[in-house]
Amino acid sequence: MAAAKNKPNLHPLSGDSNVCAFITPERVFIPYITGKLVQHQTEMTGLKRVFCKNPRLTELVRNGLCRCFHAEHVRLESSGLPIIHHSKYVCELPANHRFPMGKFPRVLHFLLKDQVITEKQVWVPEIASRDLLSCVHTEDYLNKFLSGKTSEQEQRRTGFPWSEGIVSRCRYETGGTVLAAEAALQRGLACSTAGGTHHAFPGYGSGFCLLNDLAVAAKYLKEDCPTKRKILIVDLDVHQGDGTAFIFKEEPAVFTFSVHCGKNFPLRKQESDLDISLEDGLEDEEYLSTVEAYLPWLLQTFRPDLVLYDAGVDPHWEDELGRLHLTDQGHLLAFSYGISLPTCDLKSFNISLGLYRRDLFVMKTTVNQGVPIATVIGGGYSRDMDRLALRHSIVHRAATQVTGALQ
Ligand SMILES: [Zn+2]
Repeated sequence: MAAAKNKPNLHPLSGDSNVCAFITPERVFIPYITGKLVQHQTEMTGLKRVFCKNPRLTELVRNGLCRCFHAEHVRLESSGLPIIHHSKYVCELPANHRFPMGKFPRVLHFLLKDQVITEKQVWVPEIASRDLLSCVHTEDYLNKFLSGKTSEQEQRRTGFPWSEGIVSRCRYETGGTVLAAEAALQRGLACSTAGGTHHAFPGYGSGFCLLNDLAVAAKYLKEDCPTKRKILIVDLDVHQGDGTAFIFKEEPAVFTFSVHCGKNFPLRKQESDLDISLEDGLEDEEYLSTVEAYLPWLLQTFRPDLVLYDAGVDPHWEDELGRLHLTDQGHLLAFSYGISLPTCDLKSFNISLGLYRRDLFVMKTTVNQGVPIATVIGGGYSRDMDRLALRHSIVHRAATQVTGALQ
């Protein structure tokens, strides 16, 4: 629990900050500075750039009172949506391995190529430290996982052979989710190009998930505020977020909401705070009406300070592992006509846009209630890497539309 012990003081800057303010109809997001000492000169560089226009903030940075992001590079010259990405989100896997490792850089590639984002919007996360990971994972598991001492049986359960590369990949991915959550708290909305490893438990990995990035981010940010934050995890991956549900079962400040296909992995489900188990083959309209029936109510009753959104695309009808029938045809069609979705009129496409409408609804509803939201891409399985990467990029495109509507 080392990360949780380091609780900085909060210095709200209401009224005098013109940096990164994020306004919604109901609420103004006020950026904050906390009292954790900045110890590394290199970390200061980005902050100085960020805050140089505000005399009070500059003073705080100079006096070492500014809290740093978990970031190697923060490019805040741009006021656009923060996209969290690291080239080390990937690692080598054995030939013909089922996990589509190549999708992570392709997501960023398509976002840049289609001019959905610019390079200035890319924030580069730090590797998650062992201390940070230990707020969720057991010492025994971290000892084994970090040094390659997990048994063959334990490795089989994860679906990955152990390698130094996979350890590094998972740690950067977790750092990315923490940074996305931090950026969301300051900007209102931020998206990683990886994350959503919700099957990882404190003491073991499972189902392509070795470290539970959502749980680490939620635990860290819950404590990283004197008044303690309440965090809602919205998990719309087709598989139940069993690891996350288990980790927060007894934690009142973190609410786990999972909408998944009942017959998909894991066979033995855990108990989330709210589980919606869906039948095989459910299509766009029924799926969307399910999400619409619960999310606004949850936001109003639980009143979270932050939402972590797992936007898994494996509910898609083409997914190799999922059993639902959501579509993205409109999204792909828009592409083939060279139309940028953030600006096109969705109603002009008389076809289904299940995943896009889902992501747009989740982010719009959350932001309109004044709650910051960070997104991770979650699961998605296809041998066609580009098609899959485009599908994963739907959440970033929808987020760009939400951000654009608020500026
Ligand atoms: Zn999944």
